[in-house]
Amino acid sequence: MDWLEVSEEQMRQERQKARDLRRSQWWKNRIASGICHYCGARVEPRELTLDHIVPLVRGGRSTKGNCVAACKECNSQKQHLLPIEWEAYLEKLGRD
Ligand SMILES: [Zn+2]
Repeated sequence: MDWLEVSEEQMRQERQKARDLRRSQWWKNRIASGICHYCGARVEPRELTLDHIVPLVRGGRSTKGNCVAACKECNSQKQHLLPIEWEAYLEKLGRD
């Protein structure tokens, strides 16, 4: 995916939408199962964080299709890995 220019204003709006989503019934249903979208781990619902599949800084939006529940482990991996390393991480999960 190409690097997109994302304005401060767009980032601000999408962060606000993410906050609204986290308060929605949709999100509560989403985390009720306690399953991480990425690794499939079963954790406490409160341990799940809202993650953008396509990050906001790369033009991702706070839509239901782009927001998933991720465990802390996957979330921190995603924050720290380069996109290509993150892909490798997901592939490894798929093989296990
Ligand atoms: Zn996970």
